[in-house]
Amino acid sequence: MLDYDLHCHSNISDGTLTPSELVARAAERGVKVLALTDHDDMDGLDEARAAAAQHGLAFINGVEISVTWRTHTVHVVGLGIDPVYPPLADGLHSVRSGRGERARKMADELAKAGIGGVLQGAYHYAENPNLIGRTHFARYLVEAGHCKDVKSVFSRYLVKGKPGYVPHQWAALADAVSWIRGSGGVAVMAHPGRYMSGRKSMGKQAMHQLLSEFVACGGQAIEVVSGSHTPEQYAEFARYAAEFNLMCSCGSDFHGPGESYRDLGRLPDFPLGCRPVWQAIPLSVLISENGPSPPDPLSETTSHSTRLQETAAKSLVIPPAGEGS
Ligand code: AMP
Ligand code: MN
Ligand code: MN
Ligand code: MN
Repeated sequence: MLDYDLHCHSNISDGTLTPSELVARAAERGVKVLALTDHDDMDGLDEARAAAAQHGLAFINGVEISVTWRTHTVHVVGLGIDPVYPPLADGLHSVRSGRGERARKMADELAKAGIGGVLQGAYHYAENPNLIGRTHFARYLVEAGHCKDVKSVFSRYLVKGKPGYVPHQWAALADAVSWIRGSGGVAVMAHPGRYMSGRKSMGKQAMHQLLSEFVACGGQAIEVVSGSHTPEQYAEFARYAAEFNLMCSCGSDFHGPGESYRDLGRLPDFPLGCRPVWQAIPLSVLISENGPSPPDPLSETTSHSTRLQETAAKSLVIPPAGEGS
């Protein structure tokens, strides 16, 4: 089992728990190293880091950036980022800025389909109004009795071809990767399995092209064990990782109790041969000032695939974006 959960959300984006509540839940459920990865916003990191120190967790600054690649929306997670790095902070500001107008258009589209009052209802669920998103709409549509749960909203509304869907231009892939790398972070392709299922999803050829471009612009890792993946997909994306020489990441993508497929907590081991992404995160980033050390990658409780890795890589220094990639 992996003690690392490197993908989750607080109410700074579309999670339901505050950063402190989220960290407390992670601690209770056995997580030893946590990254908070809110969508397009880093405002929860300070609170989460302070809570992590209290609970004895190692904490990694994270973010999940919304990207438009060709006709697809994909997400790129940044781990070990520096939130005050101006291109990253400014870039995320510009990504967030379109969300208000998009929300108004989504509400207009739903009104045309006969569902009114949604804009106000959705904002009621957005603790951080700058980050209004589809999940807040989904929660309101459940409350108003249009669907039984958030998952069913996303099968009937808010997705391509369904009422309430509004196409949107997010960050460019190369920009998102360079903001992350430039700030000292590792760029991770989030939940790739999600891009290969559903309406107008990517085929294998497009996935190859996406990963080629991602690597060419400095992407270094891919989520293999994800709350959005089936066990078959763990194996599938471990193969992609090997093919593209990417490190492997793991995260629940937890959004809130009762809402997510997978809760915070220990995740299944990587398939054999995976190179864990934390080997590229400098120890100085993993260990907070008064926080604990991360689990020793050679200890008995750590996964077998981790043990296969070279410990020398633990303190690997990541070159800035553009160099060596
Ligand atoms: P947005 O960034 O506003 O487009 O919202 C994207 C968020 O919607 C994702 O991060 C998920 O939290 C949620 N979401 C998208 N598709 C689904 C789905 N099929 N089931 C549940 N949640 C979804
Ligand atoms: Mn989300
Ligand atoms: Mn995502
Ligand atoms: Mn996520």
